[in-house]
Amino acid sequence: MHCQRLDAYRNTLTAHMAPTPLILRLDVSGAPVRWIAWEDAVCLYSRNLVAWTAGDNEFTFRGGIARGTGARSSITVHSIIAVKRGQRAPLIQRTAPPLNNHELFRRDGCLCMYCGNQYAEGQLTRDHVQPLSQGGLDVWSNVVTACRHCNTRKGGRRPEQARMPLLAVPFVPNWAEFLALSNRRILADQMEFLRAQFKSRARSLNLV
Ligand SMILES: [Zn+2]
Repeated sequence: MHCQRLDAYRNTLTAHMAPTPLILRLDVSGAPVRWIAWEDAVCLYSRNLVAWTAGDNEFTFRGGIARGTGARSSITVHSIIAVKRGQRAPLIQRTAPPLNNHELFRRDGCLCMYCGNQYAEGQLTRDHVQPLSQGGLDVWSNVVTACRHCNTRKGGRRPEQARMPLLAVPFVPNWAEFLALSNRRILADQMEFLRAQFKSRARSLNLV
């Protein structure tokens, strides 16, 4: 994103600020679109593209000195911002969120869906419930988290063929759930906003 004023803000930041959390970008109707860096949020504010804001958290960034007045400018960024134009959330939200192991493992609470044990992400694998070799697809509704042992034991078989029943039925997260799953440093107000748009069966989404 082109933003001439950004360098001035960036120069005042690095020395004395803890990393700023990601900002939750919404479309103007309030549908969540994606996480953006504070730099992108500052640009949206400076280009007057922020329609409204939500959330309790604010972050103030100081900019350059104005030539005329000598005053230092500043921009306050809210943790949740609705943007006037650009990507309309309903357009992206017609499609399922992208399938990545990080979000998949968090959807399942980092639990193996066969033995029920919890593992670190590095020890987990993506299991295709209906194996790819039997025509299964690589989509949210056909994949679960599995430990290496269970995945190897199951092999190229369906759960009933392997006599390994699933502990939970895989589901496709909506965009609010996907955004909650994809950010480990989510703020309480951002989570509260997203949680209101979770599907009912996922309200207890086990975020680890
Ligand atoms: Zn297992």
